[in-house]
Amino acid sequence: MDTLTLTSTQTDLELPEWLAQCLQAEPEDEDASLIAHAFEFAYKLHEGQYRKSGEPYIAHPVAVAGLLRDLGGDGAMIAAGFLHDIVEDTEVTSEQIEEQFGEQVRQLVEGVTKLSKFNFSSKTERQAENFRRMFLAMARDIRVIVVKLADRLHNMRTLDHMPEDKQRRIALETREIFAPLANRLGIGRFKWELEDLSFKYLEPDAYKEIQALVAERRADRERRLETVTQVMQERLENIGVKVLELRGRPKHLYGIYQKMQQQQKGFHEIYDIAALRIIVSTQEECYRALAVVHDAFKPIPGRFKDYIGLPKPNRYQSLHSTVVGFTGRPLEVQIRTMEMHYIAEYGIAAHWLYKESGGLSNIQPTAEDEKFTWLRQLLEWQNDLKDAQEYVDSLKDNLFEDDVYVFTPQGDVVALARGSTPVDFAYRIHTEVGNHMKGARVNERWSALDKPLENGDIVEIITQKNARPSLDWLNFVATPSARNRIRQWYKRSHREENIARGRSMLEKELGKNGFEALLKSQPMQTVAERCNYQSADEVLAAVGYGEMTLNSVVNKLREALIAEQQVEQSEGLEAKTQDRSELQSFQSAPARNLRPDNTSTSPIAGVEGLMHYMAGCCSPVPGEAIIGIVTRTRGISIHKQGCPNVENLPGERLVPVSWNASNGNGRSPTYPVDLQIEVIDRVGVFKDILARLSDQKINVRNAGVKTSTGKPALINLSIEVRDRQQLEHSLNQIKNMSDILNVCRVSQAGEQ
Ligand code: MN
Repeated sequence: MDTLTLTSTQTDLELPEWLAQCLQAEPEDEDASLIAHAFEFAYKLHEGQYRKSGEPYIAHPVAVAGLLRDLGGDGAMIAAGFLHDIVEDTEVTSEQIEEQFGEQVRQLVEGVTKLSKFNFSSKTERQAENFRRMFLAMARDIRVIVVKLADRLHNMRTLDHMPEDKQRRIALETREIFAPLANRLGIGRFKWELEDLSFKYLEPDAYKEIQALVAERRADRERRLETVTQVMQERLENIGVKVLELRGRPKHLYGIYQKMQQQQKGFHEIYDIAALRIIVSTQEECYRALAVVHDAFKPIPGRFKDYIGLPKPNRYQSLHSTVVGFTGRPLEVQIRTMEMHYIAEYGIAAHWLYKESGGLSNIQPTAEDEKFTWLRQLLEWQNDLKDAQEYVDSLKDNLFEDDVYVFTPQGDVVALARGSTPVDFAYRIHTEVGNHMKGARVNERWSALDKPLENGDIVEIITQKNARPSLDWLNFVATPSARNRIRQWYKRSHREENIARGRSMLEKELGKNGFEALLKSQPMQTVAERCNYQSADEVLAAVGYGEMTLNSVVNKLREALIAEQQVEQSEGLEAKTQDRSELQSFQSAPARNLRPDNTSTSPIAGVEGLMHYMAGCCSPVPGEAIIGIVTRTRGISIHKQGCPNVENLPGERLVPVSWNASNGNGRSPTYPVDLQIEVIDRVGVFKDILARLSDQKINVRNAGVKTSTGKPALINLSIEVRDRQQLEHSLNQIKNMSDILNVCRVSQAGEQ
């Protein structure tokens, strides 16, 4: 490219002095030559382009470069300031920029271009934070952010020419994303101006009002400050503190507005507070100056803050105090060294300023200071600062932790654990997206599903109705939630098996009688809904793969049945449908564990409203001492006291129970008892025993005889008795028969 020799007279805009100087610099001055070249290049390419204000477009890059120069930016940054809109707005490619200006400038321009592509329309606060983090993470070089911030600041300064809806959108984005970023990088002067400009467009009325009030009292405030300033100057000089700067400082309007809102105070209580800044040479002098301030004016308790001893996370340092000034009004005082001042104003950019001037290395602590902790901290800090790049890196590491930030095609930011793949992303968006994922496009190209995502990737998941997760995915997903959801899908995918298993478990628990009708009943539907399942089948499947316990289904079902009964009773409804009568037969059938026990049909006291059953091992009968055991899935089992299955159980599983007095409602329930009878084997003895039992109206459910040559025969009987009295009576009857050697009750082993 030909070298243009442009001077301010040849352009149709006023060139700033510093730029004019660069244009006239000797070729040996590398930075100046780079800057001049970048300006000329941009000037030519933007020729004929105009901003909304009617200015030639080049005025914008010139202003951005100027802001960067004020921040002490190096040649590459300032050049990037000129070139930052080139790749986006013209035909020039990044390769051409590298050819002309080298790799560094190309990387900076590329970084800024990349960041400009995203549309940060206002999202939730969480989204905003993600954007800020992503922004920092994406800019491999922190200088990219600073260029972007300068670009935004100039756009905000010239926002007047935009249509109103755009003004609001850009202002909101500035308040949510860019001002906090400037704050995080410690660039106070960018932060304040970005905030004030956003304020101006977002709350124009409040802005104008505060602006007017502040201006109205300015003269008065300045007079007060003048008096204070004189007094302080003298007193500080008297004790030998060299004052580098001592003056009132303007407070930014948005800060006043925020304070007013936070503290719920009126304008007059906040806008009229005068603020004084004292800049001295050393940290030690900061504390001495503070002593002087507190000596001259009465400090307001609770308002002193030592940000020197405890710097803010963005490295801001100063002493803050509020005192009562001469006229009885509060006076805010900030005390700091020049280095601290630079860091407050320029933040991370202060490193570039200081690297050039050698500023920080000039601070030499005196020996007597060394006992103070804050000094040790300063020393450590200085060591850190020896390598500015290292500081920048450490800052980045702290800020970004282990996350990677990617975009949805709609521009939402999603934060994922580092190493996350398109599969993790898909499951983060929605379980169904993950379960039906067919493929992924990353930055508009097909991507392998196991390829880790990078900051700033735009990820689009392609789904298909029939697509299914693959078990291999478990080998590479990085987020636990994706892992769990894939596993869960596998559980659910064997649905038929799970339903069948759940069905047989439930049937075993509730009994066959009326079971099918129950599954189709409204109470079952209620249980499904209450547990967020679509249907009874889903409930069975959930039982089948262990997501729901049998116990909880049974309990919920019983609740639903009771609730339905109560509704029917109160509405006086009769069961009419076929289903309903089947259901009722189910309910009135022994259906052990569903019987609503609080309807007083239970012979057991102490288990009201609880599911319970008679233990098969010892088969207690009324009149015998009993005890309840809490079981895992079937409620409470009722045992005879002294049953071997009760021994050694922890106390918390035992429930005191007793027999209810016979409720006299006609037919009493009966209880099964197993007997073993040893007899001399003779023809007819078995028939005689059954006859005796029959005389006493004792039902025999089951009987078996075992004989072996030369030994007594063994008869096993299962009988049903009403209570202990009846049982004992019949046992005696049998014992008294001839040929009977022994009679005893037996237990079924194993069952609790
Ligand atoms: Mn721009």
